[in-house]
Amino acid sequence: MQSKFFSTVARRLTLSYSLLFGVLSLGAFLLVYVHIAYNLNQQTDDRLRATIRELIKTRAEGGRKGLQEEFFIESTATGKERIFFRLLDSGGKPIITSDLTAWKSGSHFPISFPESGDQITRLRLSGHEYPTRIITARLEDGFFLQAGVADDKDEVLESYRETFSTTFLLILILGGIGAHLIARRAMGGVREVTAAAGRIAAGDLDQPISSGNRGEEIEALAAMFNTMQQRISGLINELKGVINNVAHDLRMPITRMRGVAEITLTRDGDLTSYRDMAVTVIEESDRLVGQINTILELAEIDAGLKVMTMEQVDLARIVNMAVELYQPAAEDREISLTVQIRKKPLFITGNINSLQRLLANLLDNAIKFTPADGKIIISLAPENQHAVLSVVDNGPGIPQIDRERIFDRFYRGDASRSISGNGLGLALVSSITEKHNGSVTVKSDGKNGSCFIVQLPL
Ligand code: ADP
Repeated sequence: MQSKFFSTVARRLTLSYSLLFGVLSLGAFLLVYVHIAYNLNQQTDDRLRATIRELIKTRAEGGRKGLQEEFFIESTATGKERIFFRLLDSGGKPIITSDLTAWKSGSHFPISFPESGDQITRLRLSGHEYPTRIITARLEDGFFLQAGVADDKDEVLESYRETFSTTFLLILILGGIGAHLIARRAMGGVREVTAAAGRIAAGDLDQPISSGNRGEEIEALAAMFNTMQQRISGLINELKGVINNVAHDLRMPITRMRGVAEITLTRDGDLTSYRDMAVTVIEESDRLVGQINTILELAEIDAGLKVMTMEQVDLARIVNMAVELYQPAAEDREISLTVQIRKKPLFITGNINSLQRLLANLLDNAIKFTPADGKIIISLAPENQHAVLSVVDNGPGIPQIDRERIFDRFYRGDASRSISGNGLGLALVSSITEKHNGSVTVKSDGKNGSCFIVQLPL
């Protein structure tokens, strides 16, 4: 089970940084330690060899007497307790030595003798605080020259170890504090985003998170969060608008039905007026149900709840069928409805019902807004990996101000107030094209007809 203390990222980071810091400084210490120890050994050995060379020369030039004097001078200069010299015969018996009083076990140095050249040994002699480094060199006449020196590099290394252990503790504490500050600062942005999420959860959608200079990752997170906040805010506003519109649009037909019923009742009318009332109620109810269905359909598409089974469909066939269906309505209004479509099928991946709804809405609008004697042309052709469907009419056109909003829910152009409708048709067209990864656009100069273009990927 994880310790509760390390449940925050900042604390875990602090621990990780501190551990890393500790391990790195320990590693650095060991490296320096080994390097110093090696170099000190090397120095001592070089010094011992140089001394032995010097002594060999002295023996050759000044004989035993000269050597004895040299032993005395050298040991006095360095300190009798720190260095000793011996000349041994081939059996290892000391012939002459420096003053060995400080080297109590001087006569019994447990040492092996080299067959040739010299050999350096490190011994811990009783009564000596530090180990002794002893060089023994075989001379040409079989004698041995020996020099031993207190290996006080241990003293240096020990003081280095002591200094390190006290500073290591300090490094750990200061490193820990530093790591904690760094981790806290790094997590500052996350805390800010969390606080903003808390504000959103409490219903405040107006305060964006300040991006500040907190590093790219945190800034990206804050930017994402702000986008999300704006989107939620936009959706809530849209929802409020939709609810207002729905309430308004549903109230109107109900009020109308109530009005007709009231008038019929108060007038004490005949059977015909009751029949008229029933017709009005049926028409208004149908319209209401239609409107409610469209609203639900839009909501389902938006929420991704509407299961649109996508399959290979022949768009040319769907267009022909829709035109056939709307031909009588066009004829009623003396509008010519023509199709420009190639004979071959045009396959796209889509949902047949939704595509029929899309065409119905575009044709319904074109017939609704085009005056008698008008002309509607529907064409379909492949273009740049897309099926391009256009519905062109020579009706009143759509002014710029409306063109920007006609795909919004419940938006109706000013000029169309006298014509029946609920402002949901084009919103549905837009949602359906979006679900098919396509696009819908409108072109119009505001007076000579409109042209709706739907592009769907082939
Ligand atoms: P509705 O047709 O119920 O008003 P739509 O969403 O279908 O709602 O259309 C929105 C608005 O776009 C209409 O109110 C109208 O102003 C405008 N519009 C749509 N199609 C045409 C068209 N073919 N000619 C002129 N205006 C149109």
